[in-house]
Amino acid sequence: MSDTAELATIRNVQVGTTGEGSMHPEHRYGSRLPLIMWLLFSQRWVDGVPVHFFAIDHRDGLVLFDTGLDPAIGSDPRRYLDSAIGEFFLRRLFRWKIRPDDNVTDQLSRMGHDVSSVQKVVFSHLHFDHTGCIDHLLHAQLLAPRREWQALTEPKAERKWYLRQHVDKPGAQWTLFDMEPCSDPDIAPYGECFDVMGDRSIVLLPTPGHTAGSVSMLLRSAGMPPILLISDLAFELNMLLDDHLPGVGEDFEAMRDSNARVRALKARLPELVILPSHDMETSTRVAEAMPTNAGP
Ligand SMILES: [Zn+2]
Repeated sequence: MSDTAELATIRNVQVGTTGEGSMHPEHRYGSRLPLIMWLLFSQRWVDGVPVHFFAIDHRDGLVLFDTGLDPAIGSDPRRYLDSAIGEFFLRRLFRWKIRPDDNVTDQLSRMGHDVSSVQKVVFSHLHFDHTGCIDHLLHAQLLAPRREWQALTEPKAERKWYLRQHVDKPGAQWTLFDMEPCSDPDIAPYGECFDVMGDRSIVLLPTPGHTAGSVSMLLRSAGMPPILLISDLAFELNMLLDDHLPGVGEDFEAMRDSNARVRALKARLPELVILPSHDMETSTRVAEAMPTNAGP
């Protein structure tokens, strides 16, 4: 155990939910069928898939990991997306149940936080279901992996579910980061990382696969187990542990390698709580890990 974990620098970790959706099992769990076949013809749905973001109450300020969905995509997808084809495929991929108050501001308020107290937002990657409501966070520092920003600004990025018009907002204070050499023995499976607060309590790790620039967030502080927020590296914890890959992802080789590194980290930190952003069990696992959690 490193010195870092002796300090209670993190007061709380909470999970927010910006609506839920249904997705095809072929998407979530993989399929022998070509993607276009299940995308167009699958009639099966996995319901109750949450769209989470996380709030980390650090002693130097409130830090978010992603911001979830913007309810506007559920109420008015035609206006939210640039193209009719995007809207068509979005409807084939997901069915949403999003209420107007399923946005980052209202969800933070339910957790006992005012959105104005957010100091930093770290984005695991820049897909639309992790970058909702940037307009609510123009006062905060927004941190994105540089490789994700490249993907956002490529031509036809919308086809990969990067919606630049909702991310690259006027007035938003973006900081692009790169991984740096890292020699922390606790995270030896990773040669590089990015220390968000400068005290090693909130450390980003490269976990490519779902997208090329995807990162995970490792939280370490006294009074809580170490927590790894893995975003969309795996849709469910067991899939990561079993190396069961989903039906979509930018690079399946990279995903396998990232899964193996997370399992190696878990072997070094046996108490590690691993939390995907779309796992039905994530809220329960947060409540177990943070029993004093005052969240909803
Ligand atoms: Zn994603």
